Amino acid sequence: MDDCIFCKIAAGEVPAKTILREVDVIAIEDLNPQAPSHALVIPVSHHATIADLTRAEPALAARLIAVAAQLGADRGGAQGFRLVVNTGELGGQTVGHVHVHVLAGRQMSWPPG
Ligand code: 5GP
Ligand code: ZN
Repeated sequence: MDDCIFCKIAAGEVPAKTILREVDVIAIEDLNPQAPSHALVIPVSHHATIADLTRAEPALAARLIAVAAQLGADRGGAQGFRLVVNTGELGGQTVGHVHVHVLAGRQMSWPPG
C-alpha cells in the first residue's frame, strides 16, 4: 500500500523506535504513548483490519496476538497489561493497517472511552 504509514515503517522507509523486527511481524513504540509503556505490534503484510487479517491469514493473526501477549508479559510482568485492537470508524481505528496496542505500566479503566 503506497500511502500506508505502517507499510512504510515495516519496509524501513519511515523511522520508528523498533522493539522487534521479524520477517512477518514488527513491534514499535507508539509515537503518542497512552501509558508508560505503549507498543504496537504490526504484521508486515498489509491488511486493513483484524477481521481482514483473520480471514486472509489466520495463522498470522494468531501470531500477532502471540507476539503482543509476550511483549505485554515482558513489559507488564505480574502487574498485567492490556491488548487493544481498534477496528473501523466506531472502533476508533485511525491507521488502516491492523495493529495491536500493548499498554502497560498504569491502572487501566473500564469501560473504555
Ligand atoms: P489506532 O488509532 O489506529 O488504533 O492506532 C494508531 C496508533 O498509531 C496511534 O496510537 C498513533 O499514536 C500511532 N501512530 C500513528 N502514526 C505513527 C507513526 O508514524 N509512528 C508511530 N510509531 N506510531 C504512529
Ligand atoms: Zn499497510
